[in-house]
Amino acid sequence: MIPMTEVRDGFKFRGGSLPLDFAATLAARLRAEPRELLATPRDLGRWFVAAGLTEKAVRVAEHDLVGARELREALYELARARARGKAGSDADRRIVNRHAAAETPVPQLEENGLRWTHVAATSLLALLARAGIDLLSGAMRDRIRQCSGEGCAILFVDTSRSGHRKWCSMAGCGNKAKVATFRERNRGD
Ligand SMILES: [Zn+2]
Repeated sequence: MIPMTEVRDGFKFRGGSLPLDFAATLAARLRAEPRELLATPRDLGRWFVAAGLTEKAVRVAEHDLVGARELREALYELARARARGKAGSDADRRIVNRHAAAETPVPQLEENGLRWTHVAATSLLALLARAGIDLLSGAMRDRIRQCSGEGCAILFVDTSRSGHRKWCSMAGCGNKAKVATFRERNRGD
């Protein structure tokens, strides 16, 4: 098992929700040249493991990668719209719904405990799509935020009691902002 830290195998997990962490696999979205972290089918396989969706890497084909990116962008657009109090587009909802309708992994009880069957790229994407539907239709949908960090496009679920969390990560963007404020204050002293 990979420990549940904020960065795993080069991928960021700051969203408090897998669909939002999945959206973060297109890094630096606000820059002129975003960075594609799912560049190859193997990258998607690595993300599934880093996300804790499967322990063993699954086989990922080129068309799975195309589908994954399509689902990722739909989840990102819908979550970003929600963060602004909007519903997002029907086209994006159709993409998420289509992925969610696919078969998911199946738990089977065996002599030695639990064994998952039907673990494949499409079924793991179906899990992600369903988690996205849960998030975008549930009680936390009004707690989806975009990080206030400069140039940071990461979306996260604000689980703070006050509901005023600003940063995707206190150690990352929160700390950078603190340092910037400190510099600002001490300029010209
Ligand atoms: Zn951030």
